Amino acid sequence: MTTNIILLGPPGAGKGTQARKLVEERGMVQLSTGDMLREAQASGSEMGKKVAAVMAAGQLVTDEIVIGLIREKLEQGSEGGFIFDGFPRTLPQADALGDLLDGMGAKLDAVIEMQVDDEALVSRITARSTCGSCGEVYNDNTKPIPADGKCTNCGGTEFKRRADDNEDSLRQRLMEYYKKTSPLIGYYYAKGNLSSVNGLGEIDAVQAEIAKILG
Ligand code: ADP
Repeated sequence: MTTNIILLGPPGAGKGTQARKLVEERGMVQLSTGDMLREAQASGSEMGKKVAAVMAAGQLVTDEIVIGLIREKLEQGSEGGFIFDGFPRTLPQADALGDLLDGMGAKLDAVIEMQVDDEALVSRITARSTCGSCGEVYNDNTKPIPADGKCTNCGGTEFKRRADDNEDSLRQRLMEYYKKTSPLIGYYYAKGNLSSVNGLGEIDAVQAEIAKILG
């Protein structure tokens, strides 16, 4: 079955963690514009160089760039459907996504808002690290890197912290979220496909709430 969904929520809400679960369970394809932009940076491409400073400062890159990235990925198709993670982040991006899906004869099945409070976000993000090989997410307080220094998922031994996971960038990312992205909650509510989950729950509990929405 093809299911296309958006995971919507502030930085640190757990979108990436839940997206990875959905990929494993349902064979969906995760489209994270944040990951795509970080890959562009790592590859040293012109675009990657252009967005590096904007991202480090916690600001949004242009709609044109991210819409282009998403368009390319949609063209590759997905049997299980797509999880949009960190996209759309502005109203023009939401309109563009609607047009792209229409053009493919596809639709959005659900927009899942992950609700969290801002204090939890600060502590989640400043404690966050990921496995350099497989992207498994760790947290110094709630899910520390194992004592043997090996990733539980793939055995990798390199862990990274994001350049923008510091308190100053995070404050800016939150401001961008409230100014530019949170209006999408009303937008999708009006379109009739908004659902909300409590993103403060345990990973498994959030996963179960999402599964219930997707049926
Ligand atoms: P988080 O949700 O944890 O803030 P992401 O990994 O989704 O982080 O994004 C990191 C950064 O990449 C953002 O702060 C922004 O600079 C850029 N970015 C990602 N997705 C978009 C988007 N859809 N539109 C504009 N900028 C984006």
